Amino acid sequence: MKTIIEPFRIKTTEPIKIISKEERIKALKEAHENVFLLDAEDCCIDLLTDSGTGAMSTRQWAAMMLGDESYAGSKSWKHFEKTVQHITGIKHILPTHQGRAAEAILAQTLIRKGHVIPNNSHFDTTRANIEYVGGIAANLLCDEGTDTADESPFKGNMDIEKLEACIAEHGKEKIPFAMITVTNNTGGGQPVSMANIKAVKAVLNKHNIPLVIDACRFAENAYFIHEREKGYMGKSLLDIAQEMFSYADGATMSCKKDGLANIGGFLICNNDSWAEEFRNLLIIREGFPTYGGLAGRDLEAIAVGLMEALEYDYQVYRQATVRYLSERLIDLGVPIVKPAGGHAVFLDARKMLDHIPDLQYPGIGVVNALYIEGGVRGVELGSVMFGSFDENGREQASPLELVRLAFPRRVYTQSHFDYLVEVIREVWKNRASIPGYSITYQTRFLRHFTCHFEKV
Ligand SMILES: *Cc1c(COP(=O)(O)O)cnc(C)c1O
Repeated sequence: MKTIIEPFRIKTTEPIKIISKEERIKALKEAHENVFLLDAEDCCIDLLTDSGTGAMSTRQWAAMMLGDESYAGSKSWKHFEKTVQHITGIKHILPTHQGRAAEAILAQTLIRKGHVIPNNSHFDTTRANIEYVGGIAANLLCDEGTDTADESPFKGNMDIEKLEACIAEHGKEKIPFAMITVTNNTGGGQPVSMANIKAVKAVLNKHNIPLVIDACRFAENAYFIHEREKGYMGKSLLDIAQEMFSYADGATMSCKKDGLANIGGFLICNNDSWAEEFRNLLIIREGFPTYGGLAGRDLEAIAVGLMEALEYDYQVYRQATVRYLSERLIDLGVPIVKPAGGHAVFLDARKMLDHIPDLQYPGIGVVNALYIEGGVRGVELGSVMFGSFDENGREQASPLELVRLAFPRRVYTQSHFDYLVEVIREVWKNRASIPGYSITYQTRFLRHFTCHFEKV
C-alpha cells in the first residue's frame, strides 16, 4: 500500500517561529510553568485543541467572498440552512456563534430544576449549561469506555442498561430529552456505533423522550462507522451521517470541529414548538434567526466546510495522521490510550512518570517537558483539570492522568508529526529527570487555565 498523502497542497503559509530551548525555559517560567499562559507564537506545534484551529480550503475562502451580509434572509443563510438540512434531514435550523450557545438555548428553554439529562459523556460546556439551570448531567458511558487498554471499536457507546435504569429511577417526566455525543470528546474522541444510536433511540421512544445529538464530530463518527461497523462499507459518509441524524429529534453543533471553520455553531430540531422557543431566545442572545451571531461569510465557510468534512479522502488522511502518531509511540513503548480516538492522541502520564505522586501532577510534568524539549503545547487532562476536594478539603487525584495532543484539521504535515515523535521520544528517554509540580496560585473554578505551578 502506498503512503496516504495529505489530500491537499499548500497555497498560503503561516510562518512558525522556533525559539531555542533556553528561550522556552524562560518563557515557561514567565508563564508560571502553565502552558495556558504562554504566548501562542512561542509554541511551534500547538496541539492544545482541535477547536476552531483548522485550516480552511480554497473553496471555503472563495465562499467567504460570496458572503451576503444582509441582516435578514441572506443568500448565505439559505446556503447554510440548505446544507444543514441536507446532511441532517432536520426541519428547523438555528445558527449560533458556537456550540455552547446552542447548548445554552437548549438548556434554558427545556430544562427545569431537578431534570436529568442522560448522555454517553457530557462535554464540559454541556454539563455546565445543564447544571446552570438546575439540571443534572448523567454520564451513562459503556464500561469499555473507561478502560484505557480496552481496544473495542466503539468505546463511545452509551450503556443501554444504564439508560433504562436512569429512566426507571427518575421517570420520563424528569427527562425532557436525552443526548448522545458523537464522537465522545470527553472519552478521547471514541466513536459511537449506528447500532448504539438506534438502540438508544428505541429505548427513548418507548418513553416518548426526544434524542438530541451533540454532533460536533459527526463526520469523524461517520468515518468510524464506515470503517468498523458491518454493513456500512458501501455507503458514503453523507449517507451514514443522514442515517445517524434520522434517529435524532434535534442536535447541537460546534462548527469549530467538523464544520472546518474557525467559529460557528447551530441548534436544530423537528419540533415546531421547541423551534419557536429556541428562536425567541436566539433573537435575544445571538441575533436574528437567519444569522444568529455569525457574519454571512462565516455561514458560507461553514456550509462548504460541513460537506468537506464528509469527503472520504479527507477523513482517511485525518485518521491516518492520528494512527501514524499513535503507532510510532506504541513502537517506542510510550503508554497511550488505545485505540486512538478521532481527534487526538492521549499519553498516559501516570504510567509515563511513575516516580511522581498523583498530587505532584505527572500530567503537568509531561506537558512542560514536551514544551521545553520541542515547543510542543499539549494539555493536561488529569488531577489539575478534574481534581476534586473531599469533605475535609483534602485534594483527590483524578481517576485518569492523561496528556492530550489534539490535532488541528489540515494544519500540520507528516514532517511536523515526525518532529513530534522525536520530541516525545526524548521526553520518554529522559523521563526519570522530569520533576513533579505544586500549585502556588489557583482560582476556585476551572483552575487549570490560570493556576501557577512551581517545580517540586
Ligand atoms: C467543542 C464542543 C462543544 C462546545 O462547542 P464550542 O464551540 O466550543 O462552544 C460541545 N460538545 C462537544 C462534544 C465539543 O467537542
